[in-house]
Amino acid sequence: ARPRHPESQRRMPVSSRTVLVRNASLLVTMDDADTRIPDGGVYIVEGVIQAVGPSDQLPAEADEIIDARGMVILPGLVNTHHHFTQTLTRAVPAAQNATLFDWLRTLYPIWARLTPEAVRVSTRLAIAELMLSGCTTASDHTYLWPNGARIDDQIEAARETGIRFHAARGSMSVGESRGGLPPDSVVEDEDAILRDTRRAIETYHDPSRYAMLRIVVAPCSPFSVSPDLMRESIALARAYGVQAHTHLAETEDEEAYCRSTFGKTPVELAEELGWVGSDVWHAHLVHAHPPEIQRLGAQRTGIAHCPTSNMRLASGIAPVRVWLDAGCRVGLGVDGSASNDGSHLLAEARQAMLLQRVANGPAALTATEALRLATRGGAAVLGRDDIGCLAPGMAADLIGYRLDALTFAGGAVHDPLAALVFCQPQNVTLSVINGRVRVRDGELVGVDLPALIAEHNRHARALV
Ligand code: ZN
Repeated sequence: ARPRHPESQRRMPVSSRTVLVRNASLLVTMDDADTRIPDGGVYIVEGVIQAVGPSDQLPAEADEIIDARGMVILPGLVNTHHHFTQTLTRAVPAAQNATLFDWLRTLYPIWARLTPEAVRVSTRLAIAELMLSGCTTASDHTYLWPNGARIDDQIEAARETGIRFHAARGSMSVGESRGGLPPDSVVEDEDAILRDTRRAIETYHDPSRYAMLRIVVAPCSPFSVSPDLMRESIALARAYGVQAHTHLAETEDEEAYCRSTFGKTPVELAEELGWVGSDVWHAHLVHAHPPEIQRLGAQRTGIAHCPTSNMRLASGIAPVRVWLDAGCRVGLGVDGSASNDGSHLLAEARQAMLLQRVANGPAALTATEALRLATRGGAAVLGRDDIGCLAPGMAADLIGYRLDALTFAGGAVHDPLAALVFCQPQNVTLSVINGRVRVRDGELVGVDLPALIAEHNRHARALV
């Protein structure tokens, strides 16, 4: 059993499993003081960090010792928005050059053929890609559950990978016949949605510190569910104390839809329905108006910034600095994967930095700020204070990139942390999640990647 609070850590029996990561060229903690430790290391007891410091000040022995020489070590990256199943429909020709609504209309009928096995395989593949890119905690927002697929399929597959997982039980209830965007064949009955969401929370949600699995209540968007379902969903989330998530203000089309259907902007609608606050995060929010952002920030509402998706679908440039200044919690999401079409979270940090500069100049977002969004920011968005930072008492989720990679040459020698973002993003050499090594020497532990890719491609062909 793992310690749940500091008292139990102090009373830890001597037989607890210990891991020592040492000799990192640079250890970046992402703590409030932005502590960076040359020749640094981390000492881990039962999946929890017990000490962070110079290697020669850490215990010399452990059950497992990892030599991080030549690496920069930082907290695992946190992905706050994704649709794992969309890895099956990347680069679909008919959806390559469309804006959001046309892209969705093209893909809904394809996604309607998803099977439980396709959900499991795409979940394993998306997580493999995320983990190799540096992600140690991910949320997924699946909102179509056709042909008997259930959130249980996804949870089972995610558990095998060892990732820290926030499973958002997505939903759509307003089909074309009721003025919505999705075809009627892929929407669910609202009572059934709420029943199944409640079941998922009661079956799986772990509210405790260091939880590996949490459930999120996540109707898809204002144009695919009813205001009633939005209200019932947020009430359900609050009754159980779980987080709530949806897409909001992604495109100008959505604003036009909300104005004509509800007589309100997307944010005004969200406010009326109770979808603001420290237990809510929205994906995108590209088109929120400045006074709306002030109100969202005052309530500590969270936002998943998905720059590649916003570029891919020509949705716009999100006002990240305005969000941060207003007090919003801001993290990064790769989104997609049919609107990215990748799941590389370090690359997403780079995109975030570059896209802000297009709109607001070269000082708009620094490399360090982009990495803070990907770590501390993401943790805050998911409502967690036990990940995103390397410090005693935090979960042992950390990653290491080799600094002698070809693409870092001539860069990492000047600034090893900034090089991760400025240079061509690399995969990790090391990933430790919950104190377990999940990537060693650049390879996923216990995963037959070629076999997984082949199986995934079979499902992708069958679907399209
Ligand atoms: Zn999305």
